[in-house]
Amino acid sequence: MKHIEVPVLICGGGGCGLGLSILLADYGVKSLAVERNAETTDHPRAHILNTRTLEIFRQHGLADEVYRQGTPTSGMERISFRTSLGGDGPLDRRLIGNLDGYGGGSLHERYEADSACRATNLPLMQLEPLLREVAEQRAPGSTRFHHELVSFEQDEGGENGGGVTSRIQDHDSGEEYTVRSRYLIGADGGKTVGRALGAEMEGPRNLRKMVNTYFAGDLSPWIDDDGVLIFYFINPDGRGQWAGGGLVKTGPTRWDRHSESWVFMRELGADDPDEIDETNVVTRMRELLRLPESFRPEVRKIGRWDVQGVVAKKYRFGRVLLAGDAAHRHPPVSALGLNTAFGDAHNLAWKLSLVLAGRAPDALLDSYESERQPVGARVAEWALHGFRMRSLIDQSIGLAPGQTDANRKAFERLYSDTPGGATARAILAEAMNIQRIGPQAHDMEIGYAYEQGALVPDGTLLPPRDPMAGIYHPVTRPGSRLPHAVLAREGKSIGTHDLVRPGRWTLFCNLGSWRSAARAAAKKTGIEIDVAVIGARGDYQDIEGNWKRLCQISGGGAVLVRPDTHVAWRSKDAPAKPAEALADAIRAALRL
Ligand SMILES: Cc1cc2nc3c(=O)[nH]c(=O)nc-3n(C[C@H](O)[C@H](O)[C@H](O)COP(=O)(O)OP(=O)(O)OC[C@H]3O[C@@H](n4cnc5c(N)ncnc54)[C@H](O)[C@@H]3O)c2cc1C
Repeated sequence: MKHIEVPVLICGGGGCGLGLSILLADYGVKSLAVERNAETTDHPRAHILNTRTLEIFRQHGLADEVYRQGTPTSGMERISFRTSLGGDGPLDRRLIGNLDGYGGGSLHERYEADSACRATNLPLMQLEPLLREVAEQRAPGSTRFHHELVSFEQDEGGENGGGVTSRIQDHDSGEEYTVRSRYLIGADGGKTVGRALGAEMEGPRNLRKMVNTYFAGDLSPWIDDDGVLIFYFINPDGRGQWAGGGLVKTGPTRWDRHSESWVFMRELGADDPDEIDETNVVTRMRELLRLPESFRPEVRKIGRWDVQGVVAKKYRFGRVLLAGDAAHRHPPVSALGLNTAFGDAHNLAWKLSLVLAGRAPDALLDSYESERQPVGARVAEWALHGFRMRSLIDQSIGLAPGQTDANRKAFERLYSDTPGGATARAILAEAMNIQRIGPQAHDMEIGYAYEQGALVPDGTLLPPRDPMAGIYHPVTRPGSRLPHAVLAREGKSIGTHDLVRPGRWTLFCNLGSWRSAARAAAKKTGIEIDVAVIGARGDYQDIEGNWKRLCQISGGGAVLVRPDTHVAWRSKDAPAKPAEALADAIRAALRL
């Protein structure tokens, strides 16, 4: 049987596995990603890529291409709730409510102040091939499609002091081979590795059945707003609560009403007797959207999924670690699934690179779990809140499952010029406002902070966070994402995140004397540090005082930022022995 040795084996060539593969290649770590499917996904699934993901992509040279292929801001200003797209009845084509989302509409200014990157929208079936191509460009031979991990065993013996031996089935040749790796990453969407380990997943499952239909078709005659990314439909004939549907534009080249393809998401109510399949999906879609028989879309794929909200209790099992959907699966309410998966990969990649290079102990990988598991748990909890709140709209209108006549009356009241109608509209407006939990979760996207892990707490308390996650408060408290501030160098603007190069540690300070401290600390710890001196006589000028406003350190202090742009340590003032203080911080963060 053939045998391969590679430092990191990744099980799964979805967004998470391919993303991790690229980051590891950028850090000079050899990895192999095996994917059991012959090709990347043929279904859109994840599509919204948030600010934080684009920051990661920008750091690793992927953002420009993703923006080039993805939806411009003008095509994703808001989400819109309607009764239908077509039809000419009194209850057809009525607006239930609009919500700005993902940095669009009224959110522009605030999101732009907080990051150099805007969100975009690129369906997974376009993103995965791009990631696969980049992974192969940066590390030829690092991905194998149609290769399935069938079993694995870990041990603490062997020449390198332990590893994982996996059996892989090549579905093209039918042959099996073994891979010996120091670490195995389960980025398999929860299909294989976690199950084999008996990883305990906490949270509810089977909350709702969903059917997504990906189709090509011209909907432009019925669409009146090019800025809507997702339409949701609730109408009297939608068979009541939670049996509406949604429509997402999926391009690939037009991101306005002329989008060439779309995904229709249908929620099956508990009382819904029908399965949705190839025979009835178009009829059901026309029925809900009130489109005429002349609308004949080309159905490309029907995908089914169950709504759940689960998170792995543990992310680390010795030499095996879980990432992405393998570790957390939840409703796509704030589009946090794949985005959180990229956060996992970003956190894990630099740690693996230091451990594999022998520059940090294996124990550093424990911090992957202590940092990312609470994020996954919070995201799953958040997405479940958002999922449950969606039914408030139905309730505020007064809809009940399966009660078509009563539901019709409820809609008539909603749009009536009566005191009851005015009250219904006021209640609906409150219910709509709560829906911001979905598309306006800015602080969930970029404000998460690590409490314990590869960082040195400085004894300060986490500032209060907005429980509705709309407002993000930038801080340099250890564990937080580095705040974005626009600086200048030689007359050109540059953001703080642009100063953190892939795989590099960066010290932000105001005094040039930190340079020699960083050199001395590097000698003591083996960790090289880039130094960004900010100020009139520094490398970068803080012309508008952005950094001064956000840095939370005095003129002599410093902020040490990890390769994943999270703060590892800060010294509010100049320490008596800066080199020692810096070296001690690195040792503590990396468990040296
Ligand atoms: C309708 C919908 C809309 C969504 N919208 C968004 C959104 O807008 N934004 C967002 O961030 N998220 C969104 N999500 C969630 C997002 O799709 C997932 O979180 C994300 O795709 C998970 O990526 P992954 O790589 O972790 O897992 P997966 O995509 O499940 O990939 C895992 C891969 O592992 C492979 N695999 C499994 N077992 C083996 C094995 N033994 N050997 C080899 N390969 C194996 C599988 O074939 C699969 O390709 C949405 C999800 C749905 C259903």
